Amino acid sequence: MKKLIVQKFGGTSVATVERLQHVMKTVIKARKTGVDVVVVLSAMAGETDRLIELAQSAAENPNLREYDVIVSTGEVISTAVLSILLNANHHPAKSLTGPQAGIKTDELHQKAHIEEIDTSIIRKELAAGVIPVIAGFQGVNPKGDVATLGRGGSDTTAVAIAAALKADECQIYTDVDGVYTSDPRVVPAARRLDNVTLEEMLEMASQGAKVLQNRAVRFAGKYKVPLRVLSSFKEGPGTLITYEEISMEKPVVTGIAFNRSEAKLTIFGLPDKAGIASEILGPIADANIDVDMILQNPDSKDLFNFTFTVHRDDYTRALDILKKVAESLNARKVTGNNKIAKVSVIGVGMRTHAGVGKTLFATLGQEGIPVQLVSTSEIKVSVVIDEKYLELAARSLHTAYGLDGDMQEEFDPIRITK
Ligand code: ADP
Ligand code: ASP
Ligand code: MG
Repeated sequence: MKKLIVQKFGGTSVATVERLQHVMKTVIKARKTGVDVVVVLSAMAGETDRLIELAQSAAENPNLREYDVIVSTGEVISTAVLSILLNANHHPAKSLTGPQAGIKTDELHQKAHIEEIDTSIIRKELAAGVIPVIAGFQGVNPKGDVATLGRGGSDTTAVAIAAALKADECQIYTDVDGVYTSDPRVVPAARRLDNVTLEEMLEMASQGAKVLQNRAVRFAGKYKVPLRVLSSFKEGPGTLITYEEISMEKPVVTGIAFNRSEAKLTIFGLPDKAGIASEILGPIADANIDVDMILQNPDSKDLFNFTFTVHRDDYTRALDILKKVAESLNARKVTGNNKIAKVSVIGVGMRTHAGVGKTLFATLGQEGIPVQLVSTSEIKVSVVIDEKYLELAARSLHTAYGLDGDMQEEFDPIRITK
């Protein structure tokens, strides 16, 4: 059977008609090797931000259906431009919006989940020798309305299509030439990884490494989609996501991820009674706000304080809710801080090695960086710190865990294009 690959190109890779011409060449080159190609595109760089601002300039809390109608158009445009280019160069192609491509989602506007893909539409185009150029980040919900998949969602579109079509590979083309030991824009000594295990990639993506959307990685794991991250600017092997442990000796730490979009809230002086945590977090969950870290510590005799973190976008809403909760529970006060960041040290090697935390705290201590919150899992340690220390923390931990590479050799100025 003919091989099939899905090629997804992100915002910087489709930023201009010139860049789209380069995308066209990449697609044609792959097709010349005898494979079928399904293309998934993001919106042109900056376009989704512009559309979000546009929707929000009309109303502070825009109607969600209409918001999705607006922000989904970025991808509609980039796919049409690429299709014009391909057709003009005698490669039949057709742009398809998410709904036209048969991508069906649930009803959650702004962060919809893909539930099903009707592959017959894409297959029909492929059988006719037409290149399907599909708008990422969107689908059609049960009401027949367009729904978007959350920021970075084109990665998920690509992986979901690759899973549904049982593609031989899903290639994510972006502005870096693979997955690095940390974000190379912040840690210049970061190194490209030839391969990374699914577990580590999932943890890195969930902890803020936006090179792949975490939902896309989860999807890839569920359906074992062969997934590779590559540069659309320069040739190279990129990074392969692997589903088995590579048997060679792994370093204890594989990467450092970080996330600036966190906010912290604390409610002080709560009575120590059973079930109080759910009285605090219940209303937060009811408002569809995800809670990340949680800490409970003593305040004074018989009283305690309760701290948790949320996404920075949800900060104001969470603070309002918490103030009401504080009143009803007779708590002493509520405070909030949305200038925090989370840094995470990740590696499957942690399972078999102790001492990861020791290096972490020693390094941050030497740099004079106070740790506000800590959370751990089998393959990760995360700390919340003041945002102003983020770069320093990421770089010094990268060095402390022996991850630094040769900056001159690895550093590629093309990466700094945003
Ligand atoms: P695209 O528009 O192609 O989807 P994104 O901006 O979403 O691209 O993701 C690519 C960016 O992810 C890189 O430019 C880089 O700054 C950032 N990034 C964060 N962590 C990492 C990492 N560990 N490895 C590579 N890139 C990373
Ligand atoms: N255009 C959308 C965004 O900027 C989706 C994507 O690029 O993956 O978030
Ligand atoms: Mg992205």
